Amino acid sequence: MGGLYLVGMGVRGKGWMEINAYSSNERLILRYAAPLFIFDTPYDTLSELLMPFSKLGLSSPLVQAITELGYKTPTPIQEQAIPAILSGKDLIATAQTGTGKTAAFVLPLLEQFSKAAEPLRGKRIRALILVPTRELAVQVEASVAQYAKHTQLTSMAAYGGVDTAPQKERLIEGVDILVATPGRLLDLAHQRALHFDELQVMVLDEADRMVDMGFVDDIHKIIVRLPENRQNLLFTATMTNDVRAIAHAFSDSKMTDMAANISITPHVRAAATIKQWLITVDKDTKSALLSHLITEQAWDQALIFVEKKHSAAKLVAQLEKRGIQADSIHGGRSQAMREKVLDQFKSGELKYLVATGVAARGLDIGELSRVVNYDLPFQPEEYIHRIGRTGRAGASGEAISLVDISDFKNLCAIERRLKNTIERKEVEGFPVKKAVPASNLNHVKKSSR
Ligand code: AMP
Repeated sequence: MGGLYLVGMGVRGKGWMEINAYSSNERLILRYAAPLFIFDTPYDTLSELLMPFSKLGLSSPLVQAITELGYKTPTPIQEQAIPAILSGKDLIATAQTGTGKTAAFVLPLLEQFSKAAEPLRGKRIRALILVPTRELAVQVEASVAQYAKHTQLTSMAAYGGVDTAPQKERLIEGVDILVATPGRLLDLAHQRALHFDELQVMVLDEADRMVDMGFVDDIHKIIVRLPENRQNLLFTATMTNDVRAIAHAFSDSKMTDMAANISITPHVRAAATIKQWLITVDKDTKSALLSHLITEQAWDQALIFVEKKHSAAKLVAQLEKRGIQADSIHGGRSQAMREKVLDQFKSGELKYLVATGVAARGLDIGELSRVVNYDLPFQPEEYIHRIGRTGRAGASGEAISLVDISDFKNLCAIERRLKNTIERKEVEGFPVKKAVPASNLNHVKKSSR
């Protein structure tokens, strides 16, 4: 285009076509009288060239798909990870949920594979995305399918808790991108429903969560089955020693170049768009306080976290007794039931969803306005993950924690991690008998002195 940048084109008045263009720093408006002609312009091509995602190295079928999804600019992790992955480097990235990390690794995979000349053989995959939970597997695969919409590339999710037969059948033809949980993946491999000899890229998503959920052995069992000559991508919300050990296991098998290291959110900070506050409360009035908040403040929606599966069922019963319709997802419910409840929540049919941290892991619920910590998590990182369910990709959200005296230790750990105290609010009609003291942000654990 020789320095002329077309930025818009439209029909103005009767028979006039207006072209807005920039030439270096001058704005040109070109007007053509065109009452008799129908222009066939390469407008899409031009506008795509100006699209920031194209500049990252993605070609038009992908740019078109993300444009249709309404993405206008890449998020910071996408800006850094997409070119790094396209260059074939291994990558270790620290980025929490909500930063756009899924697109950051899926888009370059699709870009690479859409150029693949070799047809895929049966029972083969080009990329494996390993995730900790079934929900995340479903969600990541749905993203892959959305981004791959205008390509010929195929994807599937494989997870436990459901019959293996349909998954095995689907693998017969081979799939480009397989999103799987570790246990089911090993099952399928043992049953020879799947071979890894054509695998080019291995992605470990939410590596810290994998460690928490006890998948380290499975990950090692999987790594040894993969071809040595492959690209490795590891995404984690927090960089712990265990995660570093997994990254090393990758590098032992084959890492010719040094992996690119990207850190998007310093793990001490939660997304800035999330408004956090807490209410101190006595344990025995917690469910009444929650019901009060839901009705008094006319909450449109809330994802409510509890620690244990039995507390999820109990809380749902308590809310329902007060006329608030709620439902729950936790490890004790069947996959089909969890999916059904989740769909109801996503569609807005269900407004209040009670979930354990593990079950809620990786849920992508667009525009979630509010999360509630009915129970504070034991790990500060888990707090950051939970509140990351709201305020995603620039949307604002609020995170409310109901804190009783038994949560004091957890609260201190969270506030120390945040390097700030969470704003406290009082609710009329709920005086606290057992006050929760202010945490000491400067306290240092003996072990870390
Ligand atoms: P993730 O961190 O991958 O869980 O993504 C969080 C949410 O951000 C998802 O709902 C994505 O669809 C959305 N998202 C990802 N990238 C972008 C982008 N560049 N612009 C707008 N939304 C995005």
